[in-house]
Amino acid sequence: MKANFSELRNKMVEEQLIARGIKDPGTLEVFRKVPRHEFVQKKDLDIAYNDFPLAIGAAQTISQPYMVALMTECLGLSGKEKVLEIGTGSGYQAAILAELAKEVYSIERIPALAENAKKLLARLGYQNIKIKVEDGTAGWTEYAPFEAIIVTAGAPDFPSPLLQQIPLGGKLVIPIGGRFTQTLTVATKHKNGLEIKDICGCVFVPLLGKHAWREKDVG
Ligand code: SAH
Repeated sequence: MKANFSELRNKMVEEQLIARGIKDPGTLEVFRKVPRHEFVQKKDLDIAYNDFPLAIGAAQTISQPYMVALMTECLGLSGKEKVLEIGTGSGYQAAILAELAKEVYSIERIPALAENAKKLLARLGYQNIKIKVEDGTAGWTEYAPFEAIIVTAGAPDFPSPLLQQIPLGGKLVIPIGGRFTQTLTVATKHKNGLEIKDICGCVFVPLLGKHAWREKDVG
């Protein structure tokens, strides 16, 4: 029997997002629309909309739907922004952002993941997403500044190049903490400095790069 994915998406929105307090109408609408099952491994098709992260190969994961929604809501997008994502992974978060912002720039350090995501997002018809293979902790100077930056891997601290690449009023959403657990953190840049808000505890794979964890740290 073929699963009714649109029904599963509506159920995910009701039971995982609305039930936990996600309110932004735009965010809820795109979660009813973007086909998460396209972004998971074939063997996981029937659990694509379940309430947990899933492996996507290369020891990486597509985040739990609620975490993707929460981070998206934290960015407070209006539709006009250029957004930078660090950690393309499957491309699911990039697709969600592309529905809510003007342009999405996404950086992934593992070439095979970047390649898969690029192909998939093109097949799904997204034309406002640019992906490159690089260490994203340095940001993407060519297209900076970005009104919103989202990091989908856990960092020991704010990577300074990312703070430099947001304008006044811009936001950086990033899990900050130790190797195994972090705090989802939103930094907003103001004239007088950074306003920092802790959102909740979270668990992400490590952000590996010049301005984050080094491979020797994570062993
Ligand atoms: N946003 C993804 C989930 C990403 S998992 C999705 O929607 O599926 C975290 C990703 O960050 C992994 O693919 C990992 O390879 C990548 N990553 C870790 N450190 C990185 C870095 N310095 N630059 C770019 N990508 C990085």
